[in-house]
Amino acid sequence: MQRLAQIPFPEVERVARSGHALVILPVGVVEEHGAHLPLGLDSFAAEVYAEAAAPELEEKGYDVIIAPTVSYGVARAAIDFPGTLSLEPETLRSLVVDIGRSLARHGLNRLVILNGHRDLGHMQALDDARAKLVDENTGQILCVGFTIDPALTAACYREGIEKLSRSVRPDREGHGGEWETSLALHAFSDLVKEDVVQTLEPNFDYDVEAFRGETKDYWSLSKGSGYFGSPQSGSAETGKKIVAIRGRNIAGVILKAWGKMRE
Ligand SMILES: [Zn+2]
Repeated sequence: MQRLAQIPFPEVERVARSGHALVILPVGVVEEHGAHLPLGLDSFAAEVYAEAAAPELEEKGYDVIIAPTVSYGVARAAIDFPGTLSLEPETLRSLVVDIGRSLARHGLNRLVILNGHRDLGHMQALDDARAKLVDENTGQILCVGFTIDPALTAACYREGIEKLSRSVRPDREGHGGEWETSLALHAFSDLVKEDVVQTLEPNFDYDVEAFRGETKDYWSLSKGSGYFGSPQSGSAETGKKIVAIRGRNIAGVILKAWGKMRE
């Protein structure tokens, strides 16, 4: 696995020529995740899952290149929280299309858009970018992680992790809750305000339909707390397992779509 921004151009040429190149573009956002987690969580998550999926893909013959993360996205639900930044969907779509075109120009025409941020406008913009690139015959393009297809999102993120929950209401875990707190405690614990986590009461009493359907904003839905579920149920141990499972899930979805390069 190599990082596009860290290698010189002849190496890109070599990998592109091999015909085995697969580029993963992690996509996140700058968005509040409660008073205990960093605004960049979804971007960091996408990077962590990309790194976890890469070895599984390389085992099947792909040469994985991870492109620099798109750290900005569409985040309208949480826009009232300080620090949350939102692009217009069209801006995100254009950005990803431009990246895909540039990659393809150099023979990197197998692109996985790995999205760590759940927002309908954001996911739609990424899918529109995918469709546009496919339309232009840019190559093979796939959206994974949080996507507009709920079944595909579940195959990437939900499969195999529900049994890990320590929450008394796993059905109420969401943004900034047990799962994201666990991931952060495992993968970037220096950015978690652990003293704050100890003060956070579970937030199970919110309008789940409005949360999932994004018909109400996070500020009013969470009464200004910015999280859904129980951050205190999170643990680094759970986070480690989540990363391993989701990495495998995501690689599995990609391999199912595109097959193996070799046995
Ligand atoms: Zn998130």
